[in-house]
Amino acid sequence: MKQLEPGSRLVVASHNPGKVWEIKQLIAPYGFDAVSAGDLGLPEPEETESSFDGNARLKALAAAQGSGLPALADDSGLEVDALGGAPGIYSARWAGPGKDFELAMQCVHDALIEKGAWDGLPPRANFISVLCLAWPTGEHRIFEGRVYGTLRWPPRGGNGFGYDPIFVPDGETRTFGEMEPAEKYAMSHRTRAFEAFRRHCLEKTDTGAAAPKTGRDLEALDAAARNLSTQAELARFIASLREDFANNESAWKPRDLAAFLQALETAAASAEVADAEPRWRTLARALLAASR
Ligand code: IMP
Repeated sequence: MKQLEPGSRLVVASHNPGKVWEIKQLIAPYGFDAVSAGDLGLPEPEETESSFDGNARLKALAAAQGSGLPALADDSGLEVDALGGAPGIYSARWAGPGKDFELAMQCVHDALIEKGAWDGLPPRANFISVLCLAWPTGEHRIFEGRVYGTLRWPPRGGNGFGYDPIFVPDGETRTFGEMEPAEKYAMSHRTRAFEAFRRHCLEKTDTGAAAPKTGRDLEALDAAARNLSTQAELARFIASLREDFANNESAWKPRDLAAFLQALETAAASAEVADAEPRWRTLARALLAASR
């Protein structure tokens, strides 16, 4: 299997903004130039396969062949034991055309009540994520991750997306919807699938793992600044910048806050971050430029 070189362009083959954001966060430290299938204007293929593997492969191959770039797709969902694994591959479809996840959670709840499966212990369920990395040649590879837990009613918490407000991972008392994003990522199905992907595709095998970078990882910060799309991503980028400052203060060019603000003023007006339609990433790029 080909290795992915840091800095290479990688398509995130999804049109789901919540998922695109999570996947971009996972790959950001590796310095990929990540771009979503939606940003490239690629059509969203219909998920016609009958398994998570099949749908992940279908999406990754469509994006790789449509863009001529390696593409990473995720097919994921919620599997409820007492419902025979439903909603499973139909997790997104249970939300209907309006992508209404309050409706989808209500459907899970109603189906469990109908089966009498919510009378005793909370029903068991798991999230599953299957990642597929595909190349324009058709070569591809599958990686899987799961997180097990139980369901709660009514839904709790406004973080995350999809079925997060009804899922409590084993060993926790809060739903994914009540956790900070970083807490969810530390244990999520997608992080686990990504771990498998990282082990097989991102590490060099002969001289050991790719050495952790010391000093400022400007390549990764730059990739993150150029690819972020949402307000939440900007907030996370600022947190990365703050962490970078805590670890590498002496490598930052401005010596104090006044000098940083001066540099920010210059960066905000410079051609380097000029953008016809300013976006969150415009601000991120100005912040990074000021630090240099
Ligand atoms: P697909 O992989 O785009 O077909 O859709 C997967 C669906 O599963 C999403 O739309 C969500 O409903 C659900 N899902 C997948 N991962 C998560 C998660 O981390 N939290 C909550 N719901 C999820």
